[in-house]
Amino acid sequence: MVKHVKVFATGGTIAGIAGSAIAADYKAGQIGIDEYLEQVGGLGLDAELSGRQIANIDSANIGPAVWNEFHPAIVAALGDDQCDGVIVTHGTDTLEETAFLLDLTLPPNKPVVVVGAMRPADAVGYDGLRNFANAVRVASDPDAAGRGVLVVMGDRVFAARDVRKVRTRGTDAFRGFPRESVALVTPASLDWFGAPWRTDPSAQFGWCDDLPEVPILYAYAGMEPDALACMVGEKTRGIVLAGMGEGNMPEAVRQELVQLRRGGVIVVRASRADEGLVDREPEDDANGFVAARALNPQKARILLQLLVANGITDPAAVQSAFDGR
Ligand code: ASP
Repeated sequence: MVKHVKVFATGGTIAGIAGSAIAADYKAGQIGIDEYLEQVGGLGLDAELSGRQIANIDSANIGPAVWNEFHPAIVAALGDDQCDGVIVTHGTDTLEETAFLLDLTLPPNKPVVVVGAMRPADAVGYDGLRNFANAVRVASDPDAAGRGVLVVMGDRVFAARDVRKVRTRGTDAFRGFPRESVALVTPASLDWFGAPWRTDPSAQFGWCDDLPEVPILYAYAGMEPDALACMVGEKTRGIVLAGMGEGNMPEAVRQELVQLRRGGVIVVRASRADEGLVDREPEDDANGFVAARALNPQKARILLQLLVANGITDPAAVQSAFDGR
């Protein structure tokens, strides 16, 4: 039976135009969803597609305004008997943040796939059609349900919690950590590694259209504690440290963070390393800090925002959310 897939378009390079097949510079978010679906129609995909333009912007500009617009629309699509799966087209720069936010706030009952491209639509070697055809393949597969939000890039399928952008050039720009890809995909094939893992049919967190303020503090050699003063204000509810190595920081910065923690700000130690895994250390108990485990700083921030928004602020409860898969 032909599957019905709803496509929510937000822009990015997948909808970008350079004006030349070989130009280095281009503008993201130029092609509208109707024009895009017309092009895709020529691929002969075995699915019925309908589209909605949510935004048409570079994903550097994606944030709560766009999220608040498409989240209810996706929830409605997932509750619609006529819809078998959802695709979100997105710029690759912040794709991992949007994918993880959706992963934490959507029920896993139907496939939701986020897809982008590294080359604009008129560039030689445009990867956006192939990635999109792969995304349709995943979004049409009932076996993709129960795996949370999935990201399709470069013939691989990643879980939203694992995926990260690791390169700024080339079509092989994403990888998963600590779990690599969860499936291999082409427009004609889809091979899953293992069974679906989401057994609870409900969303992990309630949606919040006013996410709390949680800045990311990037640690560096020679850092002074006054670096914190410019980013922490009255409304700050949490801080994610992009720490050195396994979530480390200069001693003077640690002392400042402990003071903030005592004032009620939640402090999460993540790592600035590419494949940072930050485990809990004995000092975390005394400091009142939380370890981000395998989440990179930008994803740790999303999780912490949702925890605070849902009233989960006790460090032990926050830690168990970071420990969970
Ligand atoms: N700057 C673009 C964006 O994130 C990059 C891309 O889509 O690959 O919108």
